[in-house]
Amino acid sequence: MSAELQQLYQQIILDHAKARHGAGLLEVPAEARSGESHQLNPTCGDEITLRAVVGESAAGDAAVEGISWDGQGCSISMASASVLTDLAAGLPRDEVLGLVENFREVMRSRGTVEADEEVLGDAAAFSGVSRYPARVKCAMLAWVALEEALLAAN
Ligand code: ZN
Repeated sequence: MSAELQQLYQQIILDHAKARHGAGLLEVPAEARSGESHQLNPTCGDEITLRAVVGESAAGDAAVEGISWDGQGCSISMASASVLTDLAAGLPRDEVLGLVENFREVMRSRGTVEADEEVLGDAAAFSGVSRYPARVKCAMLAWVALEEALLAAN
């Protein structure tokens, strides 16, 4: 990874840690399909409660209509939740579950699998985190929460 790219990735994480897209749990309409998950990362003190609303796409497939979350923790965990909110909102549910799997593979690779920016968008900025096993859970926290929330919304 070039120094320039590393710097860009660092900036994306800092921006999202501040902006926190999706932060603030939203009420779920009574008739909506939804799921919720609470995740803890005790080694770092990160915590998140994430809510996902599942609707139907024009093609009739299940789609992630909205994501909102409430959390506290380190910059990596909060930025990752914000990036994930932007990435997953509006996508088909199965595609989102695939993205979670893809991100998990990169995060568990200890730096050997590079994220595909075409697939993961801004989440590729967390690639470098995979070299620090202690921080992988920080980056994964929101993703695990979304996966669980979507499976619960079945
Ligand atoms: Zn953390």
